[in-house]
Amino acid sequence: MARRKKIYEGKAKILYEGPEPGTIVQYFKDDATAFNAEKKDVIEGKGVLNNRLSEFFMTGLGNIGVPTHFIKRLNMREQLVRSCEIVPLEVIVRNYAAGTLSKRLGLEEGTQLPRPIVEYCYKDDKLGDPLVSEEHIAAFGWASQHDMDDIIALALRVNDYLSGLLYGVGIRLVDFKIEIGRVYEGDFQRLIIADEISPDSCRLWDIETGQKLDKDVFRRDLGSLTDAYTEVARRLGVMPKQATHPTKPTLIN
Ligand code: 5GP
Repeated sequence: MARRKKIYEGKAKILYEGPEPGTIVQYFKDDATAFNAEKKDVIEGKGVLNNRLSEFFMTGLGNIGVPTHFIKRLNMREQLVRSCEIVPLEVIVRNYAAGTLSKRLGLEEGTQLPRPIVEYCYKDDKLGDPLVSEEHIAAFGWASQHDMDDIIALALRVNDYLSGLLYGVGIRLVDFKIEIGRVYEGDFQRLIIADEISPDSCRLWDIETGQKLDKDVFRRDLGSLTDAYTEVARRLGVMPKQATHPTKPTLIN
């Protein structure tokens, strides 16, 4: 069997050349990293859960007309996605203060923001993905003004969709990060949601208890990351069978 061509290996995923031109196979690893890979571990089952959850969120977005790179899930750890040119920005949407926003502005974590705030970081691991403004984005040509209008509209639609969906299962969407891809169709280009949407890239808090159900569990050593992600998947009804703890066998007389 021919070995497939690896295009890119990141901290949590590997990209392989897809079966047809314009497609990519996205493989979800169990590796967890935080603080620009200063903290690392392998969390068994994380890749399976993120593959399922990202499929679930991207499919839902597609169903309400938000374009994404997702084509179909292939197996437990892989999905087929549309190949695209990644805009070199991490687009962050925040509903409540947490993480670097809390640090930067001295806001208590959990403070509701007056409105959703969209921020941008320049994707560069060596620089630790620094926060940038629309001025930097325009001046360095990372995205045009027209792209920025589309990016903000996409980010806010994703925020509304995810916030409502998660609220319905008792989870607060505190903030999240998305990446944007550029695809070319004839003379036109279009922006789509790329990468992944999973508890690795969102802050998810239980509405009642405030319990963290996202990657902060790993970043801050708060317990089992797989248990947290499994709880998100369970509430959304997307629990993969093989990732669940096997139920006790029932004795039949
Ligand atoms: P913060 O800027 O507070 O660290 O992160 C804001 C949100 O964006 C959080 O939900 C966090 O998980 C997500 N985020 C920021 N940078 C990254 C990143 O490099 N990778 C991933 N997976 N998520 C990120």
